[in-house]
Amino acid sequence: MFIDSHCHLDRIDLKPYGGDFAAFVAAADQHSIQHMLCIAIDMERYPAMQAMVKPYPQISLSVGVHPNENEGEEPDLQRLIDLAEDDQVIAIGETGLDYFHGQGDMAWQKQRFRTHIQAALAVNKPLIIHTREAGQEALDILAEEGADQVGGIIHCFTEDWAYAERAMALNFYISFSGIVTFKNAVQIQDVAKRIPADRYLIETDSPYLAPVPYRGKPNYPLYVRHVAEYIADLRGCDTETVARQSSENFYRLFQHHLATPKPLSV
Ligand SMILES: [Zn+2]
Repeated sequence: MFIDSHCHLDRIDLKPYGGDFAAFVAAADQHSIQHMLCIAIDMERYPAMQAMVKPYPQISLSVGVHPNENEGEEPDLQRLIDLAEDDQVIAIGETGLDYFHGQGDMAWQKQRFRTHIQAALAVNKPLIIHTREAGQEALDILAEEGADQVGGIIHCFTEDWAYAERAMALNFYISFSGIVTFKNAVQIQDVAKRIPADRYLIETDSPYLAPVPYRGKPNYPLYVRHVAEYIADLRGCDTETVARQSSENFYRLFQHHLATPKPLSV
């Protein structure tokens, strides 16, 4: 059984499922996807996303505004807290810093990031962190704001081993996406090989970043198996071991927030 710790279910292409979200969820069940964490990107589309996943106990939600979103509603602390109190919401994010897409004065992005950390602390739920080309700055802000009290996930990890060590010391887990399967991702593969068994998660970030052999095509949570297979090869273990370890880590991180933590059945 696999857990996709990061996907955007309101953006996946439902054409192969006749446009029917229920048919998609049934197919995910059949492909051994035990749980999916559906990640918010903005405020505008959040209500529709929440309504879509509400009937499904195997789907959890995060709430927040992605660092690259700069035209929609800017949630203040109380707005995030109010939304995060929903039982299906188990995390705050995705939030962080992105200096790849962002240009000019990024003070607004840092302030948004701090507001999300403060919301996570207020509701005592873990953070989903997106960081790109921001060096140590995201970790510096996490440390300054005391984010180690709630911890969370460095999603779609693309940094090096030293970065992973510092993130783990701040009580964060490292999540590997399909990028780990890309030929030139040597640094990320090194981290996936070395990381302790109790500190990593797997994800798709679907519909983006499809793993090999689907690179460049629309991505789906069921492809998380390919991420697991690749990591298993790197670590010299079987895919079931990666599925079990990453699932145990997910349930440990969110044990106080999942309505019905499932017994592990791998
Ligand atoms: Zn994402």
